Amino acid sequence: MPQNDHSPTPQAPRLTRLAPTPSGFLHAGNLLSFAATFALSLRLNANILLRIDDLDRDRLRPEYVADIFDTLEFMDIPWHQGPRSPDDFYTHWSQSLRTESYNSLLNSLREGSHVFACDCSRSQLLNGIYPGTCRHKNIPLDQPGVAWRLKTNPDARIAIRSLGPAIPPMSLPPSMYDFVVRKKNGDPAYQLASVADDLHFGITHAVRGNDLLPSSLGQLYLASLLPPNGFADTIFWHHPLLEGPSGHKLSKSAGDTSIRHMRAQGLSPADICTAIARMSDPHATPQSARELGDWFVQQQRVA
Ligand SMILES: [Zn+2]
Repeated sequence: MPQNDHSPTPQAPRLTRLAPTPSGFLHAGNLLSFAATFALSLRLNANILLRIDDLDRDRLRPEYVADIFDTLEFMDIPWHQGPRSPDDFYTHWSQSLRTESYNSLLNSLREGSHVFACDCSRSQLLNGIYPGTCRHKNIPLDQPGVAWRLKTNPDARIAIRSLGPAIPPMSLPPSMYDFVVRKKNGDPAYQLASVADDLHFGITHAVRGNDLLPSSLGQLYLASLLPPNGFADTIFWHHPLLEGPSGHKLSKSAGDTSIRHMRAQGLSPADICTAIARMSDPHATPQSARELGDWFVQQQRVA
């Protein structure tokens, strides 16, 4: 991996992260978020952790894991901690190796009576919102095939530290009411694993799309129920999502915006960075991931 002019400060106490999920090829929106993380890490004197979220084994494909390394190297986006290659990832960094840490948080929630068992199917949700069906059913937590849900309080105000303009304390959005912390198959759910990992690695700054603001609120809520920890000190930046030419949110399903596809068409890293910036600014000319990140951070007036 190239280190050249952006090698880390050895004792930098700040740590941010790139946290891709290997459930698709990286797309322009991912790259913009990574570039912003890179640019901010330089301004904050923070190191970068590469954390690949591979809990969802059903959606993981080896080519998606390989694509993460290929893309970061091609785009010259550095990271200072985390796996150096797919093999290193599977052997030393997979989330499946941190089961103990996830179970320890789950046990702590259980001991504090913060969870209840739920045997509802997805179809029992109302427009994606859990109506509290099993809260008072007292289903044993050890019953096979039940999910564990967090007992959430819709009136609780959650403080969130933010880069840039302050965000007032907010309550959980309905999509996060009684959210799942342990899946029916016994695996930790995304929100729980994300908190456990951020605490484990000591993440101080998290950059993510504003579609993940509900997740951040849920994670802060969850962390407040655990033994004393530093999660509430995490500084977040929820950035706007990149929009395609027609104003649609870009997604992994949009194959033509995958970085892999752009490379296959012969675009250089500079071409790709310029093309991404020009989706929202016809005059932007970033020539590298670092310049793309700087352009975005300035455009959003965050730092
Ligand atoms: Zn239920």
